[in-house]
Amino acid sequence: MAMELERECPSCGAETFYRAGSTTLHLGEKVKWHCTECEYGFVKINGIDSSETPA
Ligand SMILES: [Zn+2]
Repeated sequence: MAMELERECPSCGAETFYRAGSTTLHLGEKVKWHCTECEYGFVKINGIDSSETPA
């Protein structure tokens, strides 16, 4: 599993997120990604983006 993700941050415009943590749920794996440049974060569950959910 990659520890970094290329994605444009909607908050500061940086393009790298790091994997801040993960939790295994009955739904699958929940991974928290965090911007390297600001406080913005989001989660993915089973690889599905859940950007609307505050991390
Ligand atoms: Zn950012």
